[in-house]
Amino acid sequence: LRIAVLKETAPGETRVALTPETAKKFIGLGAAVAVESGAGVSASIPDAAYAEAGAEVRSSAEVVKGADIVMGVQAPDVAALSGANPGAWVAATFDPFGQRDRVDAYASAGLEALSMEFMPRITRAQSMDVLSSQSNLAGYKAVIAAADAYGRAFPMMMTAAGTIQAARVFVMGVGVAGLQAIATARRLGAQVSATDVRSATKEQISSLGAKPIFVESVAGIEGEGAGGYASEMSDEYKAAQAELVSSHIAKQDIVITTALIPGRAAPRLVSDAQIATMKPGSVIYDLAVAQGGNVEGSVADQVTEKHGVKIIGYSNTPATLPADASALFARNLFNFLSAFWDKEAGRPVLDEEIGDAIRLTRGGQVVSERLKGG
Ligand code: NAD
Repeated sequence: LRIAVLKETAPGETRVALTPETAKKFIGLGAAVAVESGAGVSASIPDAAYAEAGAEVRSSAEVVKGADIVMGVQAPDVAALSGANPGAWVAATFDPFGQRDRVDAYASAGLEALSMEFMPRITRAQSMDVLSSQSNLAGYKAVIAAADAYGRAFPMMMTAAGTIQAARVFVMGVGVAGLQAIATARRLGAQVSATDVRSATKEQISSLGAKPIFVESVAGIEGEGAGGYASEMSDEYKAAQAELVSSHIAKQDIVITTALIPGRAAPRLVSDAQIATMKPGSVIYDLAVAQGGNVEGSVADQVTEKHGVKIIGYSNTPATLPADASALFARNLFNFLSAFWDKEAGRPVLDEEIGDAIRLTRGGQVVSERLKGG
């Protein structure tokens, strides 16, 4: 079995889907591993480190030739995959709703696209979940970047020249990224509050030493949809939430937004009118900018300024931590493929629960129920 990894080609992508550590582990399972020369450079992994781990370091065409499994952070264009074996698997993120054309192209090429974003949220798949591992890092980095852009300090400081007040940080959306953002802001000494539509997060917020800000006036709304994801809220709830946020946000120095609903545009959580009530010098980091943004006026890959408030909108925050993001991504892929390794077949054989969830294309067809349904 031959596993291939290409250098990522998307603009701003610094991550790589294989590390020397996981190369060694795949080879230990009996696979041959080939990686494109320079694939790890942005993540501080030189070619020599892959070679030392036992991988072949080659040109892209040589790497793909005869590949049974191609791994990527972002799925490569189909054109880069000619020469791979018929029916080869490609395990990567596909942005399946956003880039439907690419999925169709994979089907036409007879490739089997395995979308890592569709990994089911079940206990045994936690170690395979790239959304979790990358969100965790993104939540951390959003706070660090916001702190850097903020013209004041985060912790309370009592100095001979007087006292500096602790920064107030408000985290909107308390999933994996939000929880890490809360923990990071707390470690930096900020006063932290947070909100979500899933009531289960209330306790998690409190246990991290932050203050939960929740809509209590609209009864009977849980906000928990299929598979632990948030579902879309009623208009009544949205109105109550907007009112609550309006009164709270005016007193905040830093706002980190992380709210996503899979397959839909990100919910709009912060309006221009609300930004206008914030103090000049405040900072907003919109982690959902690539899905349309939680914040009015946030622009992908730009820092904009509205009413004296900086709005940071990097579309690929994990890529700003390339070494750690790659290490975790590569481990997610190894945990996934090795969990299904069939010794006799000498390759992974997926079970129905996970295979059906993540497989987008097979045998020339788009087979994903989630994609066909949407
Ligand atoms: P996500 O990236 O889908 O969304 C981020 C957060 O935004 C969520 O908490 C969501 O409830 C919230 N949100 C959505 N709309 C909102 C709105 N209008 N206002 C405020 N908040 C809003 O979430 P995630 O990080 O993937 O995590 C969601 C849950 O799934 C967590 O409980 C996490 O622990 C769980 N999870 C489990 C597994 C697993 O078991 N394998 C894997 C990943 C996540």
